[in-house]
Amino acid sequence: MERVTENVFTNTKIRGCNPSIVFTDEGAVFIDTAQWISTLLEMIDFAKSKGPIKYLINTEPHIDHIFGNHWFAGVCPVIGHEKIADTFFDVPGDMDGYDYSVDVLERQDKEFLPFMPSREEYIVNPPQITFNERMSLKVGNHTFNVYHTPGHADSQIAVHVPEERVLFTGDTLFVGCQTWLHSANIDELISSLQFLKTLDVDYIVPGHGPVVGKEYIDVQLALIYKWISAVAGGIAQDWTLDECIKKISFTDLPVDIGQAEMMDYVQRTNVTKCYNYIKG
Ligand SMILES: [Zn+2]
Repeated sequence: MERVTENVFTNTKIRGCNPSIVFTDEGAVFIDTAQWISTLLEMIDFAKSKGPIKYLINTEPHIDHIFGNHWFAGVCPVIGHEKIADTFFDVPGDMDGYDYSVDVLERQDKEFLPFMPSREEYIVNPPQITFNERMSLKVGNHTFNVYHTPGHADSQIAVHVPEERVLFTGDTLFVGCQTWLHSANIDELISSLQFLKTLDVDYIVPGHGPVVGKEYIDVQLALIYKWISAVAGGIAQDWTLDECIKKISFTDLPVDIGQAEMMDYVQRTNVTKCYNYIKG
């Protein structure tokens, strides 16, 4: 685990999201959960060694952020956006969320597969506390300003902890790796990134990739514009969607850890998303 500030820890070097913990003087607040059971249990043990676990906040419905919610059932309330239940536990491809998770563990965290509950025992555990536009939560000496920042997903949120000068963006920001637009609303994503620029923070824990400063928000915006303008260029030459998919790709950045096989999926769905966006 990496220490971001005095009271903030995260894990940016595993497959899936960057699960994080903020320690308050009343206990721990988790932000997203690890997709590997080994890391998940290590983080839960670490938190418990310092006190109770008070809340889990889910920044989005994608499986790599919420797989571990099972382990928080009966432990603490879960917080998320009111629309999160609509797509909670969805995964790309044909598998359901349960089989998808078992497949990940079999390939990448096999030693901890015995800790995976059976399908019948697995508790999906979506948020019980939900909000619409924004919410402010006081836990001990810390404030959690939680904002609806739609774009990457409909129910995307960001968590700002002013006392630590840290912002957790979920997948509104991908750092040093491929940006997934597969479920994006492009206009909303751009305006959410613009909004995040207005927050006064020193550290951003993105959905994927290393911790960065606010300047990276412009890098993310530029990447999105690069995709849009490449596809707009194709459309200007009367390329069909299939031609755009065949001819346009940006594979200079890797897919985040442990997901190299998703490169084609990301390229295809990003082009498709931009194509439909431009065509209206
Ligand atoms: Zn996501």
